[in-house]
Order: sequence, then C-alpha cells, then structure tokens
Amino acid sequence: MTEDTSSFEATLTCAQTLDAADTLAHMRASFHIPKHSDGKDEIYLCGNSLGLQPQRSAEYVQRELNQWQKLGVKGHFSGDYPWMPYHEFLAEPMAELVGAKSSEVVVMNSLTVNLHLMMVSFYQPRLLKQCILIEQHAFPSDHYAAESQLIFHGFDPKEGLMLMRPRSHEATIRTEDILLRIDQHADTLALVLLPGVQYYTGEVLDMKAIVSKAHEYEIKVGLDLAHAVGNIPLELHDWGVDFAVWCSYKYLNSGPGSVAGCFVHERYHDDEMLKRFAGWWGHDKTTRFQMGDEFSPIKSAEGWQLSNPPILSLAAIRGSMDTFREAGGIQPLREKSIRLTGFLRFLLETRLSEQVDILTPSDTEAQGCQLSLEVNSEKRTGKEVFDWLEEQGVTCDWREPNVIRIAPVPLYNTFEDVYRFVDILEAAL
Ligand SMILES: *Cc1c(COP(=O)(O)O)cnc(C)c1O
Repeated sequence: MTEDTSSFEATLTCAQTLDAADTLAHMRASFHIPKHSDGKDEIYLCGNSLGLQPQRSAEYVQRELNQWQKLGVKGHFSGDYPWMPYHEFLAEPMAELVGAKSSEVVVMNSLTVNLHLMMVSFYQPRLLKQCILIEQHAFPSDHYAAESQLIFHGFDPKEGLMLMRPRSHEATIRTEDILLRIDQHADTLALVLLPGVQYYTGEVLDMKAIVSKAHEYEIKVGLDLAHAVGNIPLELHDWGVDFAVWCSYKYLNSGPGSVAGCFVHERYHDDEMLKRFAGWWGHDKTTRFQMGDEFSPIKSAEGWQLSNPPILSLAAIRGSMDTFREAGGIQPLREKSIRLTGFLRFLLETRLSEQVDILTPSDTEAQGCQLSLEVNSEKRTGKEVFDWLEEQGVTCDWREPNVIRIAPVPLYNTFEDVYRFVDILEAAL
C-alpha cells in the first residue's frame, strides 16, 4: 500500500492546513526545540539519531537529585518513586510500545551490552549449526557483537557470519529473500539477528514473517529495534520473537546514552537450561539481600539484570514514557507519521525527482518516519548539500558513503517543517 496523496499539494498553505488539522500538533509544546542562530526554531529532522528533550524530563531528573540530597540512601525506599523498584515503573509503558507483557521487558544497560547478554543465552551454537544471519552493512556494533560471539565460541566468523544483502541494483532487502535464505541454510543457522527498521535505508522488515519462518526450523530470532521502537507499532509477544534489544535515545527521547530496553519472551522465563551471565540485580528479589552465593533468577526479563540501574537516566525515560502516553500511544503517532513522511515523499517526488533518489521503500508498511536520500547534483556533493542544510538551520544526518537521513517525528515535527526542509533542499540543488 502506498500513501494516499490526493489531499496533498506542494504548497506552504497545504502544509499549514495539514498542521491545523493535526490532532497531535499540541504535542510539540511538550518538547524543547533547539534554536538556530537566527533565533528561530531549528528544522529538527534528526529524532532517529537523538530525540529531543521532553519538557517534563528535567523536572523528573531534578526530583531524584532532590531525593538524593534530602534522603541519601533512604531514597531507595521513600517517596512516590523509590529507587529500589524504579525500573519497574518503566516496564509497563515500555511494554506497551513494543507489544509485550510487562514481565517480558526490562530497562537496563545499553543496547550493545544487552545484545551480548541476549546472545549468551540465545546463541547456543553447535558444530555444523553455528551460523548467525545478519544483514550486510548492519549497524557496526551489531556486526562486531555477532562476530565476537562467534569467535568467543571458537568459530571462524568468515564461515559463521552469513550476510544478507539486497539484490544487485536494489537498495533494500526483500523479505522473500530473507525467508528463502533461512529455508536454504536452516541446517547451519543458529540465530537470525536483524533490525526492525534498517538504520541506513529506513526499511521496515517483516518481522512477523521472519520469526515464523525461522521457528519452523527452531532457529532463534533476535531483533535490534534501535530504529523501530517509538517509530512503528510492534507485537513482540504475539510474533513470538525470542529476544529484542533497543536504545532509548533515538525515537524514545530519553537523552544521550540513556539506558536501553530488552525483551525476553515469556516462554524462557522459567527455562533452567538457558545459560546466562548473572548479576545480583537479576536475583530473586525476596532473597537478594540475604547475600547468598546461590543464584536464583527472577522469573521474568528482570532475571537478566546485572546491576542496580542509574536512576537519573531512568527518570528521563519516565519523562519520555509519560509523554508517549500523553500522545495516546504509538497508534495515533503512527497514523500521523504515515501522513507526515508521506507528505515529505510527495514533495520530494513532485519537486525534486530528478535530483533526489529515495532509498526507503514506498510501501507504507515498509517505512517508518525516516526517508534516506541520495542526492545527485552538478552543483554540490552529497556531503556539501548536507553541510549547507545545517547552515540553513536544518538538523538531519549524514551517513557514509552517500546518504542524508531525514526523519520527521510525529511527536514534535510539523508539516511545515517538512515543507521548509524541501524548500531549502531545492535551493541547495
Ligand atoms: C543506534 C544503534 C545502536 C547503538 O548501540 P549503543 O550500544 O546504544 O551504542 C546499535 N545498533 C543499531 C542498529 C543502532 O541503530
């Protein structure tokens, strides 16, 4: 399905009409919008890299600093949001965003750390069944993590890492090709590790189809949802995903380097055969402080925790979760996102089709907020265009070798932002 563009016109008036009709337009006021040097709001189209700060986050963080000042160690047990169970306040709203039960979600560590912890449990290679399928040009951290796990288990990554690439002359990977690859290599595959949304092209993969195919052969599926969470609706529990990891600083607006999320399907919560790297915060809460030597894991995703978490960072995540709830959750945001990104595509196709190639698939099911653009101009190289955009007050991002990523975010971007961006891009070309 492609977006219905019949109500779109390539005019500022149309952009303003779309903003006036936008039932989520008020959400922009719940964020701090960075200012350009001319004093006006930046055209911030970079929420896929670092989401903007919700207005309430500073208050939530300050509140925990105050608790620490006034209460010291007693802050673990006092007030409306005591630190001891603080991460538990985040499980439910986070689970809503990823389509999981609260018990399947825990907020801990950072994305790559969680990826390793999950692979310790879910990548159990055997001789002749050791391969990990990832995409060619996966986010480097995912590539390094998978490769180092192979080495850790004594395998040669050249043989063990199976790379999924698009067909020649195509920018994105076809789901049918992934399914076929799984069919063909079922005997040797131990784990499929793929993104929900590919960071470079913005392509949304058909996660449900991939999980169900891999499970025909008892191959585990792990998802990296760095670019998917807070962007598109997810159904991790119903799809039967084995594990998933995501960061909270992109579409989740929880601040640079903030604590990450992790999903473990409930069918594993009581599985004593699973190996894991353990820490005291994963130990049964009722006996944790007896400080015994025998590890008894919590029977939920929390059983994978290692350490007591950084509360100031969790407070910022709580600010973000409340902001998502204020907007009514991911469904209405996704509806606006399809319109907003659809308007961006419409403007690019009507005004700049000669100079701009859009790598992201046009099927609405296969795209989220982000469009990845390759520009062809006699006047400027892609990188020069990007630098020029920055000078004009557009914040977006550049990915080597040749892509400008543009991500209008339904929580705080406007149709007018999108319109003005295309105007400035046209001037650059
Ligand atoms: C952003 C991103 C990461 C970042 O990893 P950190 O551990 O949070 O630094 C990893 N993988 C993907 C696919 C990403 O988009």
